[in-house]
Amino acid sequence: MQFTTLGETEEIGASCHYLHLDNAGIILDAGADPEKEGMDSMPDLELIADHPDWPVDHVIISHAHHDHLGALPLVTRTFPHAHIHMSSATRQLADILLPASARLQRRKLREGSTTVEPIFDEDEVEASSYVYQAHPLEDEFDLTGFKSDFDVSGEFFDAGHVLGSLGVMIRWEEEGRLRKLFYTGDTGLNNQTIIPGAEYPDEKVDILLLESTLGADPTAETFTRRSEEKRLGEEMAKVLKRGGTVLMPVFALGRGQEMIALIDRYKRRGIIHEDIPVYTAGMMRAIADLYDKTRHSTPRLNEDFQVYGVPQSRLPRSRQALMEALKKPGIMAVGSGMMFERTISNKIAQQLVENPKNAVFLVGFAREDSPGDRILKARAEGRGTEAVLSSARGAQPIRCDVDRFRFSGHSHRRDLLKLVERLDPEKIVLVHGEAKAKAWMADNIRFFHPDIEVIVPTEGQVLDL
Ligand SMILES: [Zn+2]
Ligand SMILES: [Zn+2]
Repeated sequence: MQFTTLGETEEIGASCHYLHLDNAGIILDAGADPEKEGMDSMPDLELIADHPDWPVDHVIISHAHHDHLGALPLVTRTFPHAHIHMSSATRQLADILLPASARLQRRKLREGSTTVEPIFDEDEVEASSYVYQAHPLEDEFDLTGFKSDFDVSGEFFDAGHVLGSLGVMIRWEEEGRLRKLFYTGDTGLNNQTIIPGAEYPDEKVDILLLESTLGADPTAETFTRRSEEKRLGEEMAKVLKRGGTVLMPVFALGRGQEMIALIDRYKRRGIIHEDIPVYTAGMMRAIADLYDKTRHSTPRLNEDFQVYGVPQSRLPRSRQALMEALKKPGIMAVGSGMMFERTISNKIAQQLVENPKNAVFLVGFAREDSPGDRILKARAEGRGTEAVLSSARGAQPIRCDVDRFRFSGHSHRRDLLKLVERLDPEKIVLVHGEAKAKAWMADNIRFFHPDIEVIVPTEGQVLDL
């Protein structure tokens, strides 16, 4: 079997891998890099074309985050006869997220914030969405290639990360023996507020493709969800009591809905007053609706809970209305989670960071040097330290509270090691993590499991596994 990674660099980048087994060609994930634009953000599909004997029969999408899904229209255009497999929820999310991505690319060009031509448009996205095939969890489906000699099968397992997320087990025959490869996708092994922890298989595999997002984060494992939940509730109550606004930059898919569920819990328990307005915007609302529609058909901790059952106000559009809203206590849960420039959370932060009554509470992963990371570091140096949120506006004094709470949808690294123990692979290929995250994972797996071969691939490197 051959493996190559098409979209990853030293950073997290775009998730996209290619497998060639028993004459079947399978692409795992079709992600785009959220920090780049145009073809630079896309996985390098040419690496497949360089091998005339590498077919592409199937594409599997683990979940609907942009770094796993964002290049799918390009992949379907390049390999129009490939079968595209995902969960039913991911398929419905793709119908919201990919057209939105096409509109964003066009708007950026029109506004002049980029010179890069859009990679795809809404018509192309719509036309290709008809070929996506949805499969239920723990139900085998066919991944045999056009030229395969034997059957190749796939089976989805719940990954516990966001709505619709999954890992996939691939089984095939090689030289007369059954071989198994498991790709984790992004993993959430512990319960969140809405979504329960992963239900991964409990069987020995030959090869494990393992994500390593939190591999370089020594502190993630020292926080418990319960203590973070308590701390966030208390800090929020303090800010609201003094009449301030709490800005929670969130990812539109996953963290946003989980935080609404948590705010609802605080209100029910009287930690914050039930009349405090909760503002949400745009895509997050459409995705919340999908969380509710799928609550009986996808894994839930409480099937009765509805994100839309929690009263939410639409974020004011005009500057004047926003300034009015900021005069009263309130919570704004809006994207993007890392507060990238020109996103709603960034624009609101510019309005509220200079007033000490307010707070910005980060609740997800923030890459180094993202605006979220910059204000967190500046505020840690002391109230009033300057940081740049928007390059057009320049440095601003950060006088409000800025804090980070650990509610990642990713497994921390000790849990990833437990998963290694459970699946007991002969070989592990580390994917989806910064270089130092993969290095920590590799060192620790080698220490605890000296028999396992651990590989950290570079982009385009062809591994024989
Ligand atoms: Zn993800
Ligand atoms: Zn990811």
